[in-house]
Amino acid sequence: MKAAEFDYIRADSVAAACEALAAAGPGEEHKIVAGGQTLVPLMAMRLARPSLLVDIDGIPGLDGIDAGDGVVAVGAMTRQRAAELSPAIRGELPLLAKALRFVGHLQTRNRGTVGGSLVHGDPAAEIPLVAVALDAELEAEGTGGRRVCPADGFFEAPMVTAIAPDECLVEARFPVWTGGRIGTGFREVASRQGDFAIVAAAAQVALDPDGTCSRIAAALGGVAPRPVRIAALEDALTGARLDDGAIDAALASVEAAIEPDDDLHATAAYRGRVAKVLLGRAIREARDEAAA
Ligand SMILES: Cc1cc2nc3c(=O)[nH]c(=O)nc-3n(C[C@H](O)[C@H](O)[C@H](O)COP(=O)(O)OP(=O)(O)OC[C@H]3O[C@@H](n4cnc5c(N)ncnc54)[C@H](O)[C@@H]3O)c2cc1C
Repeated sequence: MKAAEFDYIRADSVAAACEALAAAGPGEEHKIVAGGQTLVPLMAMRLARPSLLVDIDGIPGLDGIDAGDGVVAVGAMTRQRAAELSPAIRGELPLLAKALRFVGHLQTRNRGTVGGSLVHGDPAAEIPLVAVALDAELEAEGTGGRRVCPADGFFEAPMVTAIAPDECLVEARFPVWTGGRIGTGFREVASRQGDFAIVAAAAQVALDPDGTCSRIAAALGGVAPRPVRIAALEDALTGARLDDGAIDAALASVEAAIEPDDDLHATAAYRGRVAKVLLGRAIREARDEAAA
C-alpha cells in the first residue's frame, strides 16, 4: 500500500522545524521524520496518516557525539550505526554500544536515528531502555524554547513520550560512570534476529577493589508500558558482593516492578519468567566484565 497524501517540508534549522510544526496547528497529525525507519512503514501501512512531514535530516549540527565533563552527548539525528561504531560510545558508554547491536538490522541502523528511537518510545526498544538505565537527560526544543526531561519521565505509555507536538528532540545526554571497575551486560530474546525484543535486560555495575558492588543500574524492557528500573534489586545489591546467590535472591523483586501483558508474541507469564532470567544473566555479565 502507498502512504496517504501529505505535505513535506525540509527544515534547515531546529527553529524552522518547530515553527513549521506549530504553524500546522492543532487537530491535524503532523510529524517530524528523521531516519524514517518506523514512521515510513507505518505510513505505508496507513497506520499513520500525517498531513505534514517535517524532515530534520539536513539540519546542520543535529547529529554528532561529544564526550566530556562526565557526559556523552548524542545528537538526535545521529544514526544508530554511527553511534554503535563511535569510539566515544564504545569507550564511555559500553552498555549503549552493546544494546545498539540488537536494534533492528544493519540496514535499519544505517538510517534509523538515536532520537527517532527515543521519541517513538516502543516499550521493548533498546535505546530507551539504556536511557532509563543510565539516567540520561533528553533535551527538546519547541517554539517556546528548550527544556530538559529526565529519561525516567520521558516514556509515558507505549509509543507515547513527553515530546510536545511542536517540539524536536535535539540531544540525549548520558552520564558516564566513574570510580570503581565498571562492567555492563545486555541480553534480550526476540522471535528472530533483528526483530523487536520480547523482553530486554540492561545492567551496569561498579565494583570496589574488594569486589563489593558500589553501584548498580538494572532495567527491563518489554514488560511494562515503558522501560522500568528495578530499584528494589538495585538497593539490595548495592554494598553487597555480587555472588550468584545474592543476585538470585535480589531477582525476587522483579515481579513487583513489572506489569507484563499478553500479546501475539508472548504471554505475560512468559515475559515475567524470562525477565528474571535475562536480568540475572545481564547482571552476571556485567559483574564478570568488571571483575576481569
Ligand atoms: C525491520 C525493522 C526492524 C526494527 N527493529 C527494531 C528493534 O529491534 N529495536 C528498535 O528499537 N527499533 C527497531 N526498529 C525501528 C527503527 O529502526 C528505529 O529504531 C526507530 O524506531 C526510528 O528511528 P528513525 O530515526 O527511523 O525515526 P522515524 O521513523 O523518522 O520517526 C519515528 C518517530 O519519532 C519521531 N521523531 C523522530 N525524530 C524526532 C526528533 N528528533 N524529535 C521529535 N520527534 C522525532 C517521528 O515523528 C516519529 O513519530 C526496526 C525497524 C524496522 C524497519
